[in-house]
Amino acid sequence: MKFTIVGAGIGGLTAAIALRQKGFEVEIFESFPEMKKMGAGIVLANNAMQVFQRLGLSEIIYKNSNHISSLKLVDEKLNTLTKINLKSFEKKLGTHYAAIHRGTLQEILLKKIPTRHLHLGKRVKQLIEIDDRIQIYFEDGTSHQTDILIGADGIHSVVRKHFFPKTAIRNAHQVCWRGITKMKLPERFQHEINESWGKGTRFGIVPLAHGEVYWFALANYKNNFRTEFQEADLGKMFSDYDPIISKIIHSTPTDKIIVNEINDLKPIKKWHTNNVCLIGDAAHATTPNMGQGACQSIEDALALSLCLEKEKDIKKAFSNFQKLRIKKANGVINQSWQVGKIAQLENYFGRKIRNSIMRMTPDSLGEKQSAKIFELNF
Ligand SMILES: Cc1cc2nc3c(=O)[nH]c(=O)nc-3n(C[C@H](O)[C@H](O)[C@H](O)COP(=O)(O)OP(=O)(O)OC[C@H]3O[C@@H](n4cnc5c(N)ncnc54)[C@H](O)[C@@H]3O)c2cc1C
Repeated sequence: MKFTIVGAGIGGLTAAIALRQKGFEVEIFESFPEMKKMGAGIVLANNAMQVFQRLGLSEIIYKNSNHISSLKLVDEKLNTLTKINLKSFEKKLGTHYAAIHRGTLQEILLKKIPTRHLHLGKRVKQLIEIDDRIQIYFEDGTSHQTDILIGADGIHSVVRKHFFPKTAIRNAHQVCWRGITKMKLPERFQHEINESWGKGTRFGIVPLAHGEVYWFALANYKNNFRTEFQEADLGKMFSDYDPIISKIIHSTPTDKIIVNEINDLKPIKKWHTNNVCLIGDAAHATTPNMGQGACQSIEDALALSLCLEKEKDIKKAFSNFQKLRIKKANGVINQSWQVGKIAQLENYFGRKIRNSIMRMTPDSLGEKQSAKIFELNF
């Protein structure tokens, strides 16, 4: 069976690897003309690492990443609000959290796919159904015909827009800056992620491998983040936070800082039709507040390959895949949306109450919720 995947992001590449391991033929079409080492950092949670373990990729990822053993939500001065100790999950699941440069992860995945099956500079413009086949037209004037199409083309998916036109992208009215710097963090930060919540802003510190530090900063905006933050001075914005945050910001070359607005896809009920299936952000883009977007697309990749291996009828296989995955992926979208709103409260009393509740809530509650996310049902 031959598959065409549109999109060589984390979801598309992992799906290609998983499908090839099951003996399927795969062609991938990606709009970027070259696969440069780009992006900031990414955190791969235990669910994603269990998938990579099953695909035989966990060792190489561990070698190139930093082992994270606790997740902390803290206030501006780095006082703990709540903490998740990941040690018990490591023992139980045999995998650990890995913080890695996105570009490095992409390189690892790309090495598993023969270049002749990866077609770069192929931005999909239009799709036309011809009997049981799909004709894919690219912006460079070429086209490709396929029996089975996997849409892994991210939140603004052209595949989704064609087959499921009634979907809505939601704007969280939050802007996110991301960067990577080389810096020696104090020992206690080496294996933990700290996310610091302030007044309508937050800042995350993620130690990577080789002395690199990935960080993210978020702020609320009203209408247009580009005009509202045109002259944004991050150092000033986070001057009330612990001084280590200013140090991290000032040590990062400004031209290396990435800025995005935060969006998600309002949960949809159907990811497949006949011979077309969506995966990853194309099907269930979430806000990044739980660090689960890529992890969910990685789960999709293995789940899809298992469904296709078991069930030869494509329609049934896609339906089984959706049954396996939709509840969890859409649950992440909803939960993450709520977390984002709570994280960036601006009201003084609201924040006081939030912080008190968080301090009083036993850590075991967060650990229980994490256990559900880390569990794979396939
Ligand atoms: C600030 C931020 C921080 C995040 N942190 C984390 C984290 O720590 N952990 C985590 O698990 N997730 C995280 N995420 C989410 C994660 O980045 C996404 O969920 C993940 O990248 C989705 O992968 P994907 O392959 O489905 O889509 P994408 O990564 O969007 O890949 C889609 C691919 O399709 C290509 N494409 C798009 N349109 C076309 C077209 N028309 N024709 C051909 N190709 C096309 C694109 O060029 C791209 O390569 C974060 C997201 C943000 C915004």
